[in-house]
Amino acid sequence: MAPSARPRYSGVSHPPSRPERFSAGRRAFLRRSGAVALAVAPVAAWAGAAACRSLSFVHTHTGETLDCVYYRGGYAPGQLARVNHFLRDFRTGEVHRIDPGVLDILFELKTRSGCDAPFHVISGYRSPRTNAMLRRRSTGVAAHSLHMRGQAIDVRLPTIPTKRLQELALALRRGGVGYYPKSDFVHLDTGRVRFW
Ligand SMILES: [Zn+2]
Repeated sequence: MAPSARPRYSGVSHPPSRPERFSAGRRAFLRRSGAVALAVAPVAAWAGAAACRSLSFVHTHTGETLDCVYYRGGYAPGQLARVNHFLRDFRTGEVHRIDPGVLDILFELKTRSGCDAPFHVISGYRSPRTNAMLRRRSTGVAAHSLHMRGQAIDVRLPTIPTKRLQELALALRRGGVGYYPKSDFVHLDTGRVRFW
């Protein structure tokens, strides 16, 4: 589906406060190239096809760190369990399965950025209770956030500008990409291809 000039936001984690963030030039470019660019990239062009995929993280709220090789010719269940725990709802301690597709997006960004530093995690899984609490505090939290399905993560890479991380993520054409310059992070998810 080609992106429209005004992307749709249903199901996103953070409805945009400034939906017209993109310049007219970029919107025009997306309109011209959208139909082709949004086609699924060949598997070979996707670093997620790598036989061995590793990631490292620092959690900005818990201070915990994680290094994992989550894929070795197949997803490694024990490593995914470590990821699930690491990305738990840190407010309630609830653990939820994290979509491995989220990890593949991060791995691709790591590869394309040439940056081997750990991802700084702002938010992973959010329980319905936590999401409801955050919604009461902020207008920027969606009722049906993909964080509640383990399909979303908020991150930054401290060694590259977060704007650059957003550009790399948009170029992937995989899932949703939200840019939050004030809080300095990018939201990534495995939902529909869209941006805000
Ligand atoms: Zn998010």
